[in-house]
Amino acid sequence: MDFHLDTLLQLPNVTVESCTHQPNEVYLKLRFLTEQANCSHCEKLSSELHQNRPILIRDLSVFGQTTYLKVPRRQFYCRECQRYFSELLPFMEAGRQYTRRYEAHIYQQVQLSSIEPVSRIEGLTFERVQGIFKHQYAQKKTNNGKELSELELMKLVNAKDIKTSSRLSETLKREN
Ligand SMILES: [Zn+2]
Repeated sequence: MDFHLDTLLQLPNVTVESCTHQPNEVYLKLRFLTEQANCSHCEKLSSELHQNRPILIRDLSVFGQTTYLKVPRRQFYCRECQRYFSELLPFMEAGRQYTRRYEAHIYQQVQLSSIEPVSRIEGLTFERVQGIFKHQYAQKKTNNGKELSELELMKLVNAKDIKTSSRLSETLKREN
């Protein structure tokens, strides 16, 4: 659609087909530039599209506005293994509702503050932010083979949240 929008989006083989607005929300409908995908079982290329069920996922905010991507989720048929497979996307993990970069951003923000303020700023529930944080941490742990410290980290983050909420209730008590 828009060359500049595609450039800003920074996702490979993707073009923005349309862009719609709602108050403080932006929706970008994406289209893939490739007609084929590698089979997740045998790696062979397939262009036999079986079905496409687009999903809505959260991405980093654009100019302070909550941003969602409407991503095609394509399922192909592989002649080689005679099986169906869902296309793997480099910018999001299968089954997640966020882009990888959004999850990385949330992880970083929680480390800098704590879950409670991040959930407020991002308009996500506490559980969702906690879920993203745990997921990211588990991934990092697998990547650098570190063990044990997940519990420590969650304790640290939760301790911060407990402090925040007790501080908040103190303030409320004082105000009443
Ligand atoms: Zn295959």
